[in-house]
Amino acid sequence: VEQESGSQFLAYLQQLHRTYSSLQEGVVASYIPEIARADPDWFAICAVTVDGRLFQVGDDEQLFTIQSISKPFVYGLALEDHGRDYVLTRVGVEPTGDPFNSIIKLDESSKRPLNPMVNAGAIATASLIKGSDPTERLNRMLAMFRRYVGHDVFVDMSVFVSERTTGHRNRAMAYLMLNFGMIDAHVEQVLDLYFQQCSVMVNCRDLALMAATLANNGVNPHTKERALEEHYVRDLLSVMYTCGMYDYSGEWAYNVGLPAKSGITGGIIAVVPGVMGIAVFSPRLQSQGNSLRGIRVCQDLSEHFGLHVFSMD
Ligand code: GLU
Repeated sequence: VEQESGSQFLAYLQQLHRTYSSLQEGVVASYIPEIARADPDWFAICAVTVDGRLFQVGDDEQLFTIQSISKPFVYGLALEDHGRDYVLTRVGVEPTGDPFNSIIKLDESSKRPLNPMVNAGAIATASLIKGSDPTERLNRMLAMFRRYVGHDVFVDMSVFVSERTTGHRNRAMAYLMLNFGMIDAHVEQVLDLYFQQCSVMVNCRDLALMAATLANNGVNPHTKERALEEHYVRDLLSVMYTCGMYDYSGEWAYNVGLPAKSGITGGIIAVVPGVMGIAVFSPRLQSQGNSLRGIRVCQDLSEHFGLHVFSMD
């Protein structure tokens, strides 16, 4: 990216946007009506460099709920609240190879959910957020997101209520974890916090800035505020690299080679450490739940600029 001028980089993003606008495969998630209503043609690509330059194409202001892209960031807050050693006793860092909502590997022989990017692990992670009551815990979480995006963020109430009303599998996993001693009491409060974190509204530009903050070692490149303690940045990037793209994480690591996280509403963030954050938003998903256009855009960017973390040419 440094080698090309900003206008050439923007032109390249515009070209990617044109190319993949015609990609019509994939389906919008439909598990709740609010999310099923998304326009399948929404499409944005944004990038923010560590020195704060912003590149944006398409529907970059369209708001949507962050969903699973919240998971690494809430994990970061849990690390700050308790330290790495304790958090590792409560949530592992092992990829599952299973769908994000799988209940299969939650059994009494395991001491903790496998990683913080699958739902079981994300619910256990939410249970670690400190605060004296639900309001304080929610406010601390929203303040954390604010440090990454540089402005107040809000929970979409109708998505939150729908998630809470229909999230039977998440509720089942939370009670199973309570029974196994993996999370402490107040299960319904923990679930509420988890559903609220999924329902935080962002646009593609916010996501690019969140990714850029990680690329910039935890400091927001626009506000210069530290969003995450420096020594935890690599922990977030590690779980994103191994577990961030659902049960497509291995293929993504092989082909794209960047720490990333996707969400069911069609967002993907990818982090180029020390260089920039990338975000793509397009609600049409492939079978594992990742944005199809998002995958293609990131693949092309990675190949074109040699961004794979293990590429040495
Ligand atoms: N709210 C969804 C759930 O907990 C998360 C969807 C996602 O993976 O982005 O089932």
